[in-house]
Amino acid sequence: MSTSGRMLRSRVEGPVLEPGDAGYDESRSVWNAMIDRRPRFVVRCASAGDVASAVRFAVEHELEVGVRCGGHGIVGHAVPDDGLMLDLRPMGEVQVDATARRARVQGGALLGALDLATQAYGLATTAGNVSHTGVGGLTLGGGMGWLARQHGLSCDNVVSFEVVTAGGEILRADAESHPELYWALRGGGGNFGVVTEFEFALHPEPGDALSVEFLFPVSSAAGPMRRWRDASRTADRRATWNATIVEQTVSLGFVWVGDAAAGADRADELGALLATAGPIARRIVEPLSYLELQVREDDVEGPALRRYWKGHYFRDLGDEVIDAVLARDGDDVPDVSLQAYGGAIADVADGDTAFSRRDTAFEFVAACRWHEPADDEKRMVAARRYAGPLERFASGAYVNALGDEGAAGIRRAYSEDKLARLRTVKDAYDPANVFHHNQNIAPSPA
Ligand SMILES: Cc1cc2nc3c(=O)[nH]c(=O)nc-3n(C[C@H](O)[C@H](O)[C@H](O)COP(=O)(O)OP(=O)(O)OC[C@H]3O[C@@H](n4cnc5c(N)ncnc54)[C@H](O)[C@@H]3O)c2cc1C
Repeated sequence: MSTSGRMLRSRVEGPVLEPGDAGYDESRSVWNAMIDRRPRFVVRCASAGDVASAVRFAVEHELEVGVRCGGHGIVGHAVPDDGLMLDLRPMGEVQVDATARRARVQGGALLGALDLATQAYGLATTAGNVSHTGVGGLTLGGGMGWLARQHGLSCDNVVSFEVVTAGGEILRADAESHPELYWALRGGGGNFGVVTEFEFALHPEPGDALSVEFLFPVSSAAGPMRRWRDASRTADRRATWNATIVEQTVSLGFVWVGDAAAGADRADELGALLATAGPIARRIVEPLSYLELQVREDDVEGPALRRYWKGHYFRDLGDEVIDAVLARDGDDVPDVSLQAYGGAIADVADGDTAFSRRDTAFEFVAACRWHEPADDEKRMVAARRYAGPLERFASGAYVNALGDEGAAGIRRAYSEDKLARLRTVKDAYDPANVFHHNQNIAPSPA
């Protein structure tokens, strides 16, 4: 171990890893296999105190800081080349107070741990759709999941944050204490500090769910997709309208969390409506538990593949947008998912949180995956060719779905007013931009 490595080691409880150490490669490997960066140090943080010491060390030694929770950030911001990576995963505990309906979730926890711990008490809060995603990155950017139309985004459910600032101070941010920081952490990403604990509000959730899909060939999906879009406008909050397109097959339906019999009635209604626009190739109505729902995409969304995404928010899925989404000529056209917002997400006033674009009707993601580095360019070009022209219909983008789009991406995620307010918070808590390995809100020039 190097001299500075020994010094760092003497300041933290958790292990410090350098290139060549056992576990180093595992720590620097993230979900997107295109990311291959080599931090000088990895601190496997054991406590908020470790995070604070490591941040101070990085600042003293002018090392870039990356923060890793689930490692699912598509651009791999968690891993800084030649810098110091805070691997928060040893801090993965979830403690539930069922009486108070609160969960204290450490900053390195994965969604699966949150869902398991809360469902043990018949409770839940909004989490994303794949259980190996990190609570950290997902919640700080917003946090969309199958419960969001009932209970708001993940960030809307955070009652307080424990945060390590760029100065190595440990703070609690909530509605009373550091209210501007509390505002910024709900949607502003990893810009303002390292969150070592999230305190979430929980909701009674017995755990019944239903997945509803009606399949159509792309060539005859335009009419049914218009009906599906129309029906989304009056959908029950227990239903999250979603669609996928994989190769030349379109699936239109919804995911229901709540009483399965009521969900099945809605499935019959939607099926009857769609059938008026064209023959349904296949109907799949699957009752499952909420926990089963939360892991069902885990394998198909597994790590070790090369990945590229392009995301958009649509305020309205107009006919032109539907036609453009269904125009899937050419090779290597990416898979598509569309997921409805609205409901409790739109109940929150836009100014209440840093999270923006609450008037979104649908989030669109075009995603591709492949094995061979030699195919990188070809696959990314094909994805951009398909998803790029859709940008003219978009009202913005989800910060957690942004790729390497830099300042232009940030402007897609937030309005000018939001950006100005976020910059003021950044100036107060991280004026030197210690935390810049993220979708960066740059501080005001010195
Ligand atoms: C398979 C898959 C499924 C997804 N599904 C959903 C979904 O259903 N809903 C949804 O909203 N999003 C979803 N996403 C997007 C996801 O929200 C982002 O990729 C998010 O950045 C992942 O967070 P992470 O902690 O796993 O990633 P990481 O790469 O570990 O972190 C990403 C960034 O977040 C910041 N960060 C993470 N933890 C902390 C912390 N404790 N304190 C301070 N900063 C921190 C850092 O800036 C870090 O670079 C999905 C992504 C993938 C890959």
